[in-house]
Amino acid sequence: MRSPRSILRSPKTIPLVVVCSGCIAFIGLFVFHLFAQQPHAVIRKINYTQLREASTARTAASLSIEGETFTVAERDGTLAQAVVTNGAAQQAVIDEFSKNNVPVEFRSLQPSPIVTALNWLVPLLTIIALGLVGWRLSTSMSGRGGDIQVADQQALQGVTFANVAGIDEAKAELVETIEFLRDPAKFGRLGGRAPRGILLSGAPGTGKTLLARAAANEAGVPFLTVSGSSFQEKFAGLGAARVRRLFARARKIAPCIIFIDEIDSMGRQRGRGNDSATADADQTLNQLLVEMDGFNQLSSIVIMASTNRPDMLDSALRRPGRFDREVSVALPDVNGRESILRIHSQGLKLEPEFDLGWVARGTSGFSGADLANLLNEAAIAATRDNAAQIERGHIEHARDRILMGAERHGFMVDEEDRYATAVHEAGHAAVGLHVKNGDPIHKVSILPRGRALGVAQFLPERDRLMKKREYLEDQIAMLLGGRAAEQVLLGTMTAGASNDIERAVEIARRMVTEFGMSSLGPIHLGKPEDARSQSLLDRVEQAVSEIINEQMKRACEVVEATRGQIATLVMALMEQDTLDAHEIHACFGTEKEQAAA
Ligand code: ADP
Ligand code: ZN
Repeated sequence: MRSPRSILRSPKTIPLVVVCSGCIAFIGLFVFHLFAQQPHAVIRKINYTQLREASTARTAASLSIEGETFTVAERDGTLAQAVVTNGAAQQAVIDEFSKNNVPVEFRSLQPSPIVTALNWLVPLLTIIALGLVGWRLSTSMSGRGGDIQVADQQALQGVTFANVAGIDEAKAELVETIEFLRDPAKFGRLGGRAPRGILLSGAPGTGKTLLARAAANEAGVPFLTVSGSSFQEKFAGLGAARVRRLFARARKIAPCIIFIDEIDSMGRQRGRGNDSATADADQTLNQLLVEMDGFNQLSSIVIMASTNRPDMLDSALRRPGRFDREVSVALPDVNGRESILRIHSQGLKLEPEFDLGWVARGTSGFSGADLANLLNEAAIAATRDNAAQIERGHIEHARDRILMGAERHGFMVDEEDRYATAVHEAGHAAVGLHVKNGDPIHKVSILPRGRALGVAQFLPERDRLMKKREYLEDQIAMLLGGRAAEQVLLGTMTAGASNDIERAVEIARRMVTEFGMSSLGPIHLGKPEDARSQSLLDRVEQAVSEIINEQMKRACEVVEATRGQIATLVMALMEQDTLDAHEIHACFGTEKEQAAA
């Protein structure tokens, strides 16, 4: 969820105050120390005899007596101090000084006003500081410092099911719940049991928050939203108190929807550790379970939660009566993407007859949030170009930026490296064009982007739900095409192929260990921690490298056979940096039969 956090009641300012008053107390102590210490610095200690001598030396300016302490202020500004305990001796000293016309002054034993004030101030400030800490604790106990947000109908205005596209199945699953919230009494009368706890699971940005908001709006009820991570506290019990407060609030405004964003941060398996933070997390989760069990047929509260790791959640959360319904929110398919693009392009100035279907086809794997971002980036690019409307080029630019990072302008690559990059990318292109089951080529570029020196981009024209063995093999060959070209045409190898190799090996490994597509037959190696024999692991490695070597050989053959065309492509790249599908096909003399771009 990306709703703005409340800044008015940010609890974060309070510890700051605590720190400040702590500082004041510290400074107070320091000042106190300074004053108490100060006189010692200039006082010379003398004995009784020296004190009596001082009275006759005519150097004494004054004598001050504080209890048993006699301090002589000399004319040169120094202080001499003696302690005289005997009463008669004290009297003798006083007489002596008086006789010599040295003014004698008695001081009380009371400390100076500043010292008195500080004596009061320090404990006072300490008490205030402690009080603030206590107040902070009690506010988080009562949840006042929390960041529960209540959106009423006005705030939800506009967010309806019409704003949510591409996830129709998920929408359909919520219809019943909306019926229930609209008229809880009717539901109870018919004896139906509407789902109360709904877990929305799916990748980030697929519209889970949007869906929950829209459901609240469709039902015409308030929407309470809170982030799962906001229940994380350092002190045991605080998180649980927040949960209690959240539900108390929900009961007051019911019927309503509570939405817990990213519940995984509070709903993990309990009992993982024995520190205070884990204890708090466990108590928080227990409290949530208790509150959900407390729902009866009359309390018309629906609680929704989003997660992208449903497998991480404590199993108790999924029992009947709790989050017993899971609605999975998938990444949109090509039609879904088109309708999401349609929603988000409202209000944008697109070029007339702009084909959103083309954008949808080229954005396989994008989430709803990615698509919204794509249009936004394109609008920014169009503004920067001073264009009257958003054109294809702006969308291309935005997509490349999202997929590959921004181009690095002003980054100097010497000609030799550009040439090596051009050969490498041309190798990918050659193999990609040659194989039968590959995706259509989209562009080749030797402009550095992000960390890559160049790129050969293939875009699937449709979502592949079923990946055939031949497709996977062709992918591997294509990934190895860059290295094959280096080897065959440059007689060398570059480190730039490292990522290609990593991805190729990853595909090959999955073919062997998950899809059963190797000489080892249909085997499946589950989690890495499962027990398996060393001999099996050895055979797996063997099978993986068999696949890799075979495809590497194939890639080299393609490169050998297309030397001339690759040379043409390399020349064009050195001149133009970037070539589109059309230009690439021209270099290879192939027909651009696929409708990719
Ligand atoms: P999630 O909660 O799954 O991480 P959000 O609901 O926060 O995702 O989505 C973020 C934004 O992306 C939404 O506000 C919306 O603009 C856009 N979006 C995501 N999915 C969709 C969708 N299916 N239809 C329309 N817009 C979507
Ligand atoms: Zn490469």
